[in-house]
Amino acid sequence: MAEILTSTTPGDVTTPEGVRSCVLASPLTSAEASLLRTYAHFLAHHHLNVVRVCQLCQTDVDIAVRPEMIGSACACRLRTFQGPTPGSDLALSPLPVPSAILGLDGEVTPGRGVFSMAEAALLNAYKRRILRTFNWKEKAFCDDCFSANRKEGTSFAVTDDQIGLRCRCREQTFGGGAR
Ligand SMILES: [Zn+2]
Ligand SMILES: [Zn+2]
Repeated sequence: MAEILTSTTPGDVTTPEGVRSCVLASPLTSAEASLLRTYAHFLAHHHLNVVRVCQLCQTDVDIAVRPEMIGSACACRLRTFQGPTPGSDLALSPLPVPSAILGLDGEVTPGRGVFSMAEAALLNAYKRRILRTFNWKEKAFCDDCFSANRKEGTSFAVTDDQIGLRCRCREQTFGGGAR
């Protein structure tokens, strides 16, 4: 992660196909930096990993979240925010993460839980102000399921009034009793 941000400098780059293109550098606003930091906490708390792809250059977006800076890099753009991220108004009050229940018969029942209001607000803000604005697409993976079986899928959908996270080990929702 660290190398990505230091080895990609603004200016001309040559893609593997030999096409020259330009890496644009743009600053992140403090609100964007704050969202990225809070979202990173959210992912860690929920044992989630994401793969992000920039829709403009079709390469993975790497993100670095450090105390003194926040940055993202793909093949077409470098975004950074230097300095401590200002206090976030999206302070999370994380609820316990549900985990699978293993029955005596060896049957696995997914744990059920809900997202907090603050988490729902964060996810909606992240989708609107980061994913849409930056043209990123994201796919989430449950760390617990993925490390047990690489073929295990995770579904994570965020709409205006509903959130649903579903994998083999849990079902976590917000609003409308998504099923
Ligand atoms: Zn890009
Ligand atoms: Zn899982």
